[in-house]
Amino acid sequence: MTNETTQSTTPTGTTRTVAAYAAPRPKAPLAKTTVTTRAVGEHDIVIDIKYSGICHSDIHQVGEDWGSGTFPMVPGHEIAGVVAEVGPGVTRWQVGDRVGVGCFVDSCRECDNCRAGLQQYCQGEGGMVFTYNDTGRDGRPTYGGYAAELVVDEAYALRIPDALPLDAAPLLCAGITLYSPLAHWGAGPGKKVAIVGLGGLGHMGVQLAHAMGAEVTVLSQSLRKREDGLRLGADHYRATSDPATFEELAGSFDLIVNTVSADLDLTAYIGLLRTDGTMVQVGVPEKPVSLHPFPLAIGRRSLAGSAIGGLPETQEMLDFCAEHGITARIELIRAEQINEAYRRVLDGDVRFRFVIDASTI
Ligand code: NAP
Ligand code: ZN
Repeated sequence: MTNETTQSTTPTGTTRTVAAYAAPRPKAPLAKTTVTTRAVGEHDIVIDIKYSGICHSDIHQVGEDWGSGTFPMVPGHEIAGVVAEVGPGVTRWQVGDRVGVGCFVDSCRECDNCRAGLQQYCQGEGGMVFTYNDTGRDGRPTYGGYAAELVVDEAYALRIPDALPLDAAPLLCAGITLYSPLAHWGAGPGKKVAIVGLGGLGHMGVQLAHAMGAEVTVLSQSLRKREDGLRLGADHYRATSDPATFEELAGSFDLIVNTVSADLDLTAYIGLLRTDGTMVQVGVPEKPVSLHPFPLAIGRRSLAGSAIGGLPETQEMLDFCAEHGITARIELIRAEQINEAYRRVLDGDVRFRFVIDASTI
């Protein structure tokens, strides 16, 4: 239990009071507060959070870009820490283990997808339980990683290999969100892969696709981050503001992963795929997208989507990163800098992920 956590018994059962940073209302700045979470259940562990990444999805949700949210909202789904307590029925973890939690903390565990380890596509009622901005099985709101600790079912925590630093927290969302489509669509030797947008997700995608053996091109708005992109493992780096990029690269990629958080002219990007190529949307902008079906038809090309990854694949990704020396390039901040960090993400001023030092919460 951290210093700032207290446990008390209320008429509705035992709860914990946890220090956190929350947005009290939609679009409001985040401020220091406390939230009430469940006490440690039979199969729960308490994670003493050490680091928490700031994903663009946090900004979308605080801003209600995707629909109404639950407030106060404690964002954060790139969580890394150390097991501080274990419930009586816990078998997987011991106090002191290095663990992480990503975008979900529960799922129905019974549907075909959950049984197949694809918990992110849970078909049970309400789907997976998101780490925050959702309601847990106990009926309480879920609160995310901008907090001193997290109480979570032991089955939904991942092992962070010793070879990875704990500030690799962004792997829990940005890492798996790129690993999963790259693995699913077969990025590897002989494949040409484009990563659109060199932000938090994109910089993981470049490293992962390179380690998988693909020939990697970054498609960025400008050449501003070119040197970084090449250092991360890109073979080529092209500016999408230059019309020549779309002419010269037409019909060249097997796979394009679009990480952009804003509207793009998808029709133009689909023209960059070769026959049978696939463009995967992982970026989720606020508004519906539109495209002309012509370039899809001419070339038998596909437009697909992908969300994070299931528990087994997330563990596989962490192990892959440990083996290949891959981690997030981060800017570590104190909790009181969260609002400034949000502004800088929106301005594209981050290389490449802000991570909160949770000891400052
Ligand atoms: P980020 O760090 O802000 O990166 C997004 C990148 O997109 C920017 O670095 C920028 O790259 C590019 N970009 C931004 N605005 C643009 C514009 N107006 N036109 C063209 N390019 C633009 O965000 P992130 O954390 O990587 O998240 C990216 C998106 O993925 C968000 O929508 C987020 O919600 C979503 N997401 C999806 C999943 C999933 O499971 N599918 C998981 C996590 C996040 P350049 O400067 O290189 O052009
Ligand atoms: Zn995320």
